[in-house]
Amino acid sequence: MDITTRRRLLEGIRRSDQASAAFTAANRACTRAAKAAADAHTRITRDLQLCVSANELEAAQAAYVALARREQEARTKVCRTFTASRAADGALGTLYAPHARGRDTGGQRRSAVASSILGELAESPRDLVLAADAILVSTSGGKDSLVCGHRVVTLAAEAGCLDKVVWVHADLGEESEWPGVRELAQRQAERYGVKFRVVKADPGLLGLVEKRGMWPDAARRLCTSSLKRDKIAPLFTQITDALGLDEQALIVSALGLRAAESPARARKLPLAIDARASNGRRMVLTWHPILELTEADVWQQITDAGLEYHPVYDALMPRLSCVFCVLAGFSVLVRAVRLCWALGLPLPEKYTDLESRIGHRFKEQYSLADVVAEATRIEAAEGSLTWRAGDAIRDQLGETAAATYLHRLALAV
Ligand code: SF4
Repeated sequence: MDITTRRRLLEGIRRSDQASAAFTAANRACTRAAKAAADAHTRITRDLQLCVSANELEAAQAAYVALARREQEARTKVCRTFTASRAADGALGTLYAPHARGRDTGGQRRSAVASSILGELAESPRDLVLAADAILVSTSGGKDSLVCGHRVVTLAAEAGCLDKVVWVHADLGEESEWPGVRELAQRQAERYGVKFRVVKADPGLLGLVEKRGMWPDAARRLCTSSLKRDKIAPLFTQITDALGLDEQALIVSALGLRAAESPARARKLPLAIDARASNGRRMVLTWHPILELTEADVWQQITDAGLEYHPVYDALMPRLSCVFCVLAGFSVLVRAVRLCWALGLPLPEKYTDLESRIGHRFKEQYSLADVVAEATRIEAAEGSLTWRAGDAIRDQLGETAAATYLHRLALAV
């Protein structure tokens, strides 16, 4: 199947999924509207029995009429979305028929067709980068983003289309992130000679918590969506406009997630349609080019290519996330506090102050004040945190690898 056919089929699948989702939503809204109208009717019957005043009865009847009208509109919408969904499925079926080999594209099979097309594309990344009109590498500046970007850029350079790559960094500000993250992301982009874009996520994690009066957590991880994903989303429109194509643009959005990081990430596919970011003008595919890598693989690739990483890794911070990431474990948070002290950053005080002002604990099991108390105890026993350049690689791959890395980095600089 050629790439043009794949693109058409993916768009057919997207439209079909979208129409089906609209039908499901309309059905739910209709159920809610029917219940509201039925409840209003029950209230009128009850009011009649209770002999309420004429005014109250009139108000109840008016409310019922409005709700009954809304129910009727919801039913009309169900019919309309059902027809649209059938039409989208029909159009997809017609498109897919020449390639179907006896299968159709209804229900489950639509997702099977999507997985097969996306799976094939993910297995031939060169075809993917060649087919893309633009390739975004979303980077936190961290080690996984770096190796992801390195892989994408290497492929794009080999395919002769480096100009398609845009290195995108969501800057959460100095009250959320470690110093120098934005500058590092920029140096990484400059090393590859690709376009660099920064989206500002003011007011960062601290501001978000201040506004909401509570900390996010794993179940309500609003921070990632509001500080990163939602800030990057307008870029898709800007890039599509800048491309100015007559046909639907294909934007590939690369993310450095790894399956080994969490069960949720292990369930991710290498390539998927980003239904939220896609529309008739652009198809956005989310690509996870390093999904299969282990942490050691990542450090090996950084060593082999002499890639510059952020120094907090040498203080054995496992991730270059927010300084106090709501997903980090207790020992990592304690280390973050000690690292702040070693770097002279006032963040532990700012965060504990915020925690006491809003009266909501950083985590259900412990507060940031507990974290700071533990950091204080360790500092008293062991002294300040110290580290050497290359410690992250020394820790993961050994002394020889660290020496090799530092030598390669010096040559690259
Ligand atoms: S790094 Fe942690 S705290 Fe920061 S946005 Fe991501 S999940 Fe939220």
